Amino acid sequence: MSEILRKAEYLLSETEPERLAPARAEVAFVGRSNVGKSSFLNAICQRRGLANVSKTPGRTRAINVFAIDPLRWLVDLPGYGYAVGPAESRAGWSAMIEGYLTSRPSLRGIFLLIDCKVGPTKLDHDMRAWLQAAGLPFFLVGNKVDQVKSSQRLNQQKRIAEGLEVPVTQIRWVSATEGTGIAPLRQEIVKLLS
Ligand code: GDP
Repeated sequence: MSEILRKAEYLLSETEPERLAPARAEVAFVGRSNVGKSSFLNAICQRRGLANVSKTPGRTRAINVFAIDPLRWLVDLPGYGYAVGPAESRAGWSAMIEGYLTSRPSLRGIFLLIDCKVGPTKLDHDMRAWLQAAGLPFFLVGNKVDQVKSSQRLNQQKRIAEGLEVPVTQIRWVSATEGTGIAPLRQEIVKLLS
C-alpha cells in the first residue's frame, strides 16, 4: 500500500500560498532547520535525494510541493529556527506558513518534527501551540532517536513528551537515517492521502 509514496516527484515551489492550486489531499511537514525534514521525506518516499530540491537556493524559504499524482501532495514547509534576516523577513516566513496552513481545505495532517537529541525548542512549542489553537490535525514526530544513547532513550522521550504536554505514546519516534519507526508512518500518510 505504501508503494504509492515511491511515486512522489517534485512538483513546484511557491512562496505565496494563495497561488497554490487546489488539491484533493495533502500532508505537510514542518520543523526547525536541520531537524531532518528532508531526510524524513526521503525515507517516507523511499527516494534518496527526492527532497534535496528543498535545499536549492531560493527554495529553502519556499513551500515545496511533492506529488504522488497531480492532486495528492506531500508538502515540505520551510524550516524555522535560524535567526536569519531582519524581523520583517521572519514575519514574512510566519505569514507564508500560516497562510498555507489556514488556506488548504485538503490538508489532512501536519507532521511536526522535533529533534530527539536537542528536545523541543521554543519555536517548536510555539508551532505546536499555534497548530493546536488553529484546530489543525497535527502529529508529533521525534526524529534522530538513534542519536540518543539507548540507556538514556526512555528518559529523554519522557522529558520531551512532558515538555510537549502529551503522553510518550503520542509521539512517533523515528530515525529518518536508520529507518526506525518509518514504516508505520508511511501507512498513516498513505491513509491520510487516500
Ligand atoms: P532539514 O534541514 O530539516 O531538511 O534536515 P536534513 O534532512 O538535511 O538533515 C540535517 C542533518 O541531520 C543531516 O546531516 C542528516 O543526515 C541528519 N539527520 C537527519 N535525520 C537523522 C536521523 O534520524 N538520525 C541522525 N543521526 N541524523 C539525521
